[in-house]
Amino acid sequence: MKIGLEVHVALPTKTKLFCNDLAYENQDIPNSNVCPVCLGLPGSKPVLNKKALEISANIANSLNCKIPAKTSFVRKVYFYPDLPKGYQITQLDGAIGKEGYISIKNKKVGIRRVQIEEDPAKILREKDYSLIDFNRSGVPLNEIVTEPDIENLEELKELIKELRSILYYNGVDINQEIKSDLNISLAENRVEIKNVTGIKNLISAAEYEIQRQSQLIKDGKDVIMETRTYKEDTEETVSSREKETEEEYGFIFESDLTFYETSNIKLNKVVIPSKIAHELAEKNGYSEETIRELVMFNKRNLYLLSNTPKEDFSKAVALIEKFYSFGIMDYSDNQFEMMLKYDVSSMDKGTFMSRIEGKEPIKEADKKEIEEYLILTIKQDSTLQGREDEKAIGFLIGKLKQKYHMDSKEAKEIIEKTIKTQKVN
Ligand SMILES: [Zn+2]
Repeated sequence: MKIGLEVHVALPTKTKLFCNDLAYENQDIPNSNVCPVCLGLPGSKPVLNKKALEISANIANSLNCKIPAKTSFVRKVYFYPDLPKGYQITQLDGAIGKEGYISIKNKKVGIRRVQIEEDPAKILREKDYSLIDFNRSGVPLNEIVTEPDIENLEELKELIKELRSILYYNGVDINQEIKSDLNISLAENRVEIKNVTGIKNLISAAEYEIQRQSQLIKDGKDVIMETRTYKEDTEETVSSREKETEEEYGFIFESDLTFYETSNIKLNKVVIPSKIAHELAEKNGYSEETIRELVMFNKRNLYLLSNTPKEDFSKAVALIEKFYSFGIMDYSDNQFEMMLKYDVSSMDKGTFMSRIEGKEPIKEADKKEIEEYLILTIKQDSTLQGREDEKAIGFLIGKLKQKYHMDSKEAKEIIEKTIKTQKVN
């Protein structure tokens, strides 16, 4: 079995690829972020967004690609209403990244190409007419094309996870609906599934198609070379009745743009989270799977765990999980470090919160003072005497919170204990 993948992701830039319109913000009103460039009006000229070039180069670098000395663009010529200038600007031979690979558990999957291209406009299909929104026209995309090195569904899932993790560490929004093309061949003929939206659908399309082709082979039938479409509602692929031939597009050099030198692009240190998870597991003698879960899509966790000494490592993992379980996402490095000195495993939320806020547990000596204060308070207030009901205890909790900055649980414990001892005496 051979599976290859082409994924398209939108890049995290403020403005579009070839003009100064906002790429993602204020998109509610259709056709509000548009200009002659992204509307494809005659006479308009594209100007390359250098930030998109930089992000793409870094993605290519993270995927072990060769980055050519100069990168350039081509026009992919086709006519469609979402592309009024009659061509899409993309890269092909001038791609920012070539011949890379991505490591998954047992192998390397080749990366044929990482290229920059513009997103066309969005077509909204109504019953008997269509509307076009050009806000999306010119949004910067990266197309990542793998070699057909994936040999089963497990590897495909691993590859997708690994790729998304690397993209996330390059600042890409991984919650976006990633558009992919998938090619799968169990026999000789290659079947391409075009325009699958979202990761869940991608896996489901692959599952269906593998099953379909296996069945054909089992029945002694031919698998036809064709392009298919994934139907979300029935979770199956259907023939889109297009002949699968070599690309019929005309590609011509984009002479409105120049050759761009890549030597001056700032390349960041490559971060491969799964590799770091592996190293942390080895170094600290800890479960790799747990560390992967915490760091693959969380830069903060990776930072915290990478900076934790071995003797505190398992406490740090437990602490991060505790923060999750209490739904606390915005804690400082100092708070994290401070919490490492406690055993948080059995701590309830109230105590946990008061520790984060820097409140130390009450010492035995302080407890004595608090008890004396309580006895005195009850003595001085006749309405409190001899009472153990919630209202009275609530009143006393308020007093202790105010005077000793205790949390409710601690206060309640000490009040109940004091009342009990008083009764015995
Ligand atoms: Zn524009």
